[in-house]
Amino acid sequence: MIVNLGHLAIGTVDLLAAFLFMFGLKRMSSPLTAPSGILAAGIGMLAAILVSFLYGLDAGAVAQPFLRMNLALAAGALLLGGGFAWWGGKTVAMTAMPQMVALYNGMGGGAAAAIAAVELFGNKAQTTTGLVVTLLGALIGAISFSGSLIAWAKLDDLLAKPMRVRGQQALNAVVLLLTLGVGGAIIATIGGWPNPYLALEPLIILFFGCALVFGVLLTLPIGGADMPVVISIYNAATGLAVGLQGFVLQNPAMMIAGMVVGAAGLLLTLLMAKAMNRSVSNILFTNFGPAVTQAPGDIKGSLRPTEAADAGIAMRYASSVIIVPGYGLAVAQAQQKLYEFVKLLQGAGVGVKFAIHPVAGRMPGQMDVLLAEAGVPYDMIFQLEDINDAFKDTDVALVIGANDVVNPAARTDKSSPIFGMPILNADQARQVYVVKRGQGKGYAGIVNALFYEDNCNMVYGDAAAVLTKMIEAVRGLGSKAVA
Ligand code: NDP
Repeated sequence: MIVNLGHLAIGTVDLLAAFLFMFGLKRMSSPLTAPSGILAAGIGMLAAILVSFLYGLDAGAVAQPFLRMNLALAAGALLLGGGFAWWGGKTVAMTAMPQMVALYNGMGGGAAAAIAAVELFGNKAQTTTGLVVTLLGALIGAISFSGSLIAWAKLDDLLAKPMRVRGQQALNAVVLLLTLGVGGAIIATIGGWPNPYLALEPLIILFFGCALVFGVLLTLPIGGADMPVVISIYNAATGLAVGLQGFVLQNPAMMIAGMVVGAAGLLLTLLMAKAMNRSVSNILFTNFGPAVTQAPGDIKGSLRPTEAADAGIAMRYASSVIIVPGYGLAVAQAQQKLYEFVKLLQGAGVGVKFAIHPVAGRMPGQMDVLLAEAGVPYDMIFQLEDINDAFKDTDVALVIGANDVVNPAARTDKSSPIFGMPILNADQARQVYVVKRGQGKGYAGIVNALFYEDNCNMVYGDAAAVLTKMIEAVRGLGSKAVA
């Protein structure tokens, strides 16, 4: 009776946790509701973890030294992992977020593979279906684990270049087929078929070894700049692996959470690929970036540098300004300064809006998070489709640390790697100021024709330093006016 009540409690909490995951995910779709969504999903995760200890208690862990030891190990792992994650989350720089996501995603895949390993070594998967599901989860989880670690190393510049060998795709295919073959041998051996060559344990080790190598081989050839999309793909894979292991363990929270993460990761991958106008297979199997088709000489016009103070004052006397933030704003960590400048403009009666491109920065939503961190009200922030028509009626577009997302070549140059990508129409504003440090290219590695347009001026310098000068110049105007 006690055991049944325990199972009922576990099942109820698991279902509640699954509901909280979905409710949290729904609220994460808007910056306004995202913090409470993250909290709800976090509470769900905590409940699911804590209630899983009841399984151990059900099995009489307190009475059995072996299970008692397991419970102590699990509690230790929780403290260690939770402590590291808490510290990591508190200290991570905004530009290092993609690496952190890659690392945590890899841990999820690894955890799913580890569950499968316990099941396989303990020969616990009873039915053939259960065994196939366990192996599938193990395969996907292990690939996601090693692939995510390579993605993390590339994003962290520990592995800088795409590493490709001749016949890469054939090699990948051979390793994958070998892994599937070993998986088949495991099913046959457990099913009682005579296997005079390898015992079960070495087969399981070989299976995991091959799957891990496949994850490495799949990820090494992909350029560092494509890693955010790759991580999103691995995120979907990790979700699927966790969902499959949930099926094996008959754990509803794992099943539902895994499938929700899998579906969300897949949708995000497709959205990112669409916003970059590339197919997912193009990202996985083709290099992007080095094929620079355009030389500065091909572009008419010239670069016209201007002083930060002059640009700041011009904006102070404009009636409308649209700000386009990009990756460089995150690098400079200049979001607070930017909002300070914006408040000065607003105080002078200038109408200011922010225009966000779906793939500005290096992570979906990175610009929204940056601006939210600085306290910019949400009603000042507009997504591409909602603001693009407004540029033509705007006095000034301030492009700050952005490059590819305002490159008009995406509209006109069929040879450009970003051709077809929707861009923000900053070039249509009456005056454009571009803040960047020098001649550095954006993620796509191409020249930006906007910088050479007649209505565009370059303000060279680190975004934070430039904004400091703009703020000083506008404040200086105020004090002169008073005097
Ligand atoms: P870009 O990478 O195109 O350009 C960033 C610009 O910022 C550079 O030209 C650089 O020029 C400038 N910059 C760097 N540091 C600073 C600094 N400290 N101060 C001022 N400027 C600085 O960024 P965008 O946001 O415009 O575009 C994002 C790109 O990333 C797109 O091509 C997108 O497809 C890609 N991408 C986005 C993903 C996402 O999910 N958001 C995922 C994967 C790829 P300089 O060196 O001269 O300063």
